[in-house]
Amino acid sequence: MDQQTKPRVVIVGAGFGGLLAARTLARYPVQITLVDRQNFHVFQPLLYQVATAGLSPDEIAAPIRWIMRSQRSVEVLMSEVRDFDLSRRVVKLEGGEVEYDYLILAAGASHAYFGHDEWAPFAPGLKTIEGALELRRRVLLAFELAERQAASSDNKDREDAQLNFVVVGGGPTGVELAGTLAEVSRQVLANEFRSIDPKRTRIVLLEGGPRVLPAYPEDLSRSAEEQLQHLGVEVQTSALVTQVEPGSVHIGESKLPATVILWAAGVAASPLGEKLGAAVDRAGRVLVNPDLSIPGHPEVFVVGDLAALKDESGKWLPGVAPVAMQEGKATAHNIGNELRGEPRKDFHYWNKGSLATIGRAAAVADFGKIHVSGFLAWLSWLFIHIFFLIGFRNRLIVLIQWAWSYLTYERGAWLITGDTHLPGWKESQAEEAEDC
Ligand SMILES: Cc1cc2nc3c(=O)[nH]c(=O)nc-3n(C[C@H](O)[C@H](O)[C@H](O)COP(=O)(O)OP(=O)(O)OC[C@H]3O[C@@H](n4cnc5c(N)ncnc54)[C@H](O)[C@@H]3O)c2cc1C
Repeated sequence: MDQQTKPRVVIVGAGFGGLLAARTLARYPVQITLVDRQNFHVFQPLLYQVATAGLSPDEIAAPIRWIMRSQRSVEVLMSEVRDFDLSRRVVKLEGGEVEYDYLILAAGASHAYFGHDEWAPFAPGLKTIEGALELRRRVLLAFELAERQAASSDNKDREDAQLNFVVVGGGPTGVELAGTLAEVSRQVLANEFRSIDPKRTRIVLLEGGPRVLPAYPEDLSRSAEEQLQHLGVEVQTSALVTQVEPGSVHIGESKLPATVILWAAGVAASPLGEKLGAAVDRAGRVLVNPDLSIPGHPEVFVVGDLAALKDESGKWLPGVAPVAMQEGKATAHNIGNELRGEPRKDFHYWNKGSLATIGRAAAVADFGKIHVSGFLAWLSWLFIHIFFLIGFRNRLIVLIQWAWSYLTYERGAWLITGDTHLPGWKESQAEEAEDC
């Protein structure tokens, strides 16, 4: 079969699901077009390290074209996908259309502001490299502005401003952000400023539900909360955010001063899901068949964070990298085998465990019946994340960076780039008196 006569599979999104689908499909006699709006794949589980100046963006990302360099049947296109015409079997992109015989949609999900998108400028989230760099800019800038204010000759009493970092959302992302911020302010920066004391930084983690890490067993949630408190994080549970404005966060009637607000709550699936015309859940995830295809279109599959599927026990599969990877791989095999005349298989998730890091030597791990907390959990987290990072160079660099910062408490990427304005900086100082 020459390249032109082979069936064409178009994969939208080069995240965990799309990449695994492309790599697996490359073993079958198909032409593959992998489309992503960015030219690089991001290892999202380490974005918080970029936001807290531990790693640089290029250490957690890799060019898609480079990742696919050995898979000759994979064509990579950098383009924003805008729509689909399922009757003509085309994907509509920025700058044209591509036809498909099979379509795999793996466009992922992002955080959501519970219908309050106007909060986004004051509380950026952690989904992209750009978002992580914006968080890093705000966090670092807050320390610099506080030092400048405390050192100013107008400030006769040399009183330093209280820095308040508020992290909204007690899931894995919120927990690792809050824990790392505590570590940075209490240990890494302890000796770097002359007029302020970074150790006084207040770090508050707000969780709307009754416990942090709600998807984990209760004992691990408790352990995570204790480990966070030990690092110096103030954890507030059942704290539903009702308003976000420059310099503060409201929880019902009370107002919490917030020099920097970091958003790590809610899930909103890519809007591309709705463009398929299939049913979606409240977060916009596509309700897929057991083989991950959509009803009425066996040639269209949705995988990863954008797909909504229940496991054997009736629980929704979580939006985590292993689910996306296994779904991408299973879909590729289903397409490849179908072309050989074999029947499709339903998708079954093999849960190898969940890990959430909290900070230096602090983490929790849920391996089914075995629950682990602290240093051992953290070591497992560290090695698993290094193992799954794409590219040997990145793995080596990240391992060296982590070993270095573990031994020396140094963080290398301490750079403020771009704007030097911090939303709400003046207001937050004036409103500090109204601390809740
Ligand atoms: C901060 C953070 C921390 C996380 N930590 C963990 C963790 O520790 N462990 C874990 O298992 N999971 C973690 N996750 C979840 C995990 O990253 C996701 O479950 C996984 O990335 C989902 O893979 P995906 O392929 O469905 O989507 P994604 O990886 O999000 O990839 C989607 C791709 O689609 C592209 N795309 C989107 N829209 C378009 C469009 N219109 N046109 C073209 N391209 C488009 C995007 O550019 C992106 O490359 C974390 C997520 C975040 C945000």
